[in-house]
Amino acid sequence: MQTQLLINGELVAGQGPAQPVLNPSLGSELLRIAEAGPEQIDAAVRAADAAFEGWSQTPPKDRAACLLALADAIDTHAEELARLESQNCGKPYTAALNDELPAISDVFRFFAGASRCLQGSAAGEYLPGHTSLIRRDPIGVVASIAPWNYPLMMAAWKLAPALAAGNCVVLKPSEQTPLTALRLGELIAEIFPAGVANILFGRGASVGSALAGHDQVRMLSLTGSIATGANLIAGSAASVKRLHMELGGKAPVIVFDDADLEAVVEGIRTFGFYNAGQDCTAACRIYAQKGIYAKFVARLGEAVASLRHGLQDDAATELGPLISEVQRQRVAGFVERASALPHVEVVTGGKAPGDAGFFFLPTVLAGARQEDEIVRHEVFGPVVSVTPFEDEAQALAFANDSGYGLASSVWTRDIGRAHRLAARLQYGCTWVNTHFTLVSEMPHGGMKRSGYGKDLSMYGLEDYTAVRHVMIRH
Ligand code: NAD
Repeated sequence: MQTQLLINGELVAGQGPAQPVLNPSLGSELLRIAEAGPEQIDAAVRAADAAFEGWSQTPPKDRAACLLALADAIDTHAEELARLESQNCGKPYTAALNDELPAISDVFRFFAGASRCLQGSAAGEYLPGHTSLIRRDPIGVVASIAPWNYPLMMAAWKLAPALAAGNCVVLKPSEQTPLTALRLGELIAEIFPAGVANILFGRGASVGSALAGHDQVRMLSLTGSIATGANLIAGSAASVKRLHMELGGKAPVIVFDDADLEAVVEGIRTFGFYNAGQDCTAACRIYAQKGIYAKFVARLGEAVASLRHGLQDDAATELGPLISEVQRQRVAGFVERASALPHVEVVTGGKAPGDAGFFFLPTVLAGARQEDEIVRHEVFGPVVSVTPFEDEAQALAFANDSGYGLASSVWTRDIGRAHRLAARLQYGCTWVNTHFTLVSEMPHGGMKRSGYGKDLSMYGLEDYTAVRHVMIRH
């Protein structure tokens, strides 16, 4: 396994303390990797800074060629990367190979093309005798810090737009799931000029905070929890770094009486439990209208109970484990506190299955009330709550009564109602009669405490640029 860091085009062993990397399906240690030492963090940022002049002046078509070559290399090594990802996360191998890997290389391809289409919006004479034009230019060194739920996908979301725009990057994957990012580093070393993309390994408190606090880092891009986001925002205030924050979510799923019952049940079975619910857009906070509520809860319970948990290599596995014992305890705590409430019914699941590994049974909790912790806080596990509602106004009020603002969905056959709600939901994305589906061309990102800044799309590319004015006196 590739365990070396990528610093200035060289693969080097970390000089910091070794950290365990686990296989969550078995709860056992896969290997130990030495994290980056303080001098290596500094060397990575300096290498990125030194590479910036050359990379930012590289014509977009040549930057695009590197991104396309990386996309091809990812496709060539798709099975190996999917194997590493599934081992390190416990997620089913077939899901990693068939769902995630094609989307990952597509992100590099999309941003390769996008880099050639970046536009300034105006060129004109706004003062007699002067011509103004707008440029979108790269920012400098971007420190990118990623979470553990989709390690290679998050690496792609961070690296591709930043590099496409002409920035240089130091990426730190989660200390729990570094394997695919480190392997990607080896592929990058063969394609990109030295220093353009650097990959470190290490914990948030040691490597992450030193990287984020480095003076030469001009922009900080985090996908992670609200707590880490708030910490980095506060820590970056003195140096006034540019920020891109993709934080947690608690997606409302509004199911009206006229919804296609089987479609919504199938949708939530898939999109509430994909990646064991460890997804910031997971369809987890369900509101069902009074008329459909009882039938819906019964059908959803049956459907969710049929999800098969198991080892990542078993082709029948639909649901993997949680990432760690800490995460399983956290999820179990939410479920225990919710099921102790007299009005909450555990329709299915509610506990760990007792296997080795960090599994938790897929769980449906019905009768939850708007004020309950299970409705208000992100669980990040295979757990959905269902709350009844009376009418459209109440559904909208419930859905928007949240600190989160990442994703939402509305299930109805009434197109007018779908539009009315989509216009009023305070979420970065609203899906109608589906949930969770992403495409590289469309933006992903939050409102409220779910953060700011967009991933994917031209908006994602623009986020990694500065708008600049150039004025020419005739
Ligand atoms: P986390 O915040 O614990 O860690 C995220 C990353 O931040 C890791 O690489 C970690 O090492 C690093 N980090 C932690 N403390 C740090 C510090 N003080 N300084 C610098 N870096 C630090 O999050 P996680 O547990 O890995 O991921 C789960 C969270 O991520 C959930 O809340 C989830 O909703 C969120 N998430 C959001 C999105 C999105 O697009 N909005 C996508 C995926 C995950």
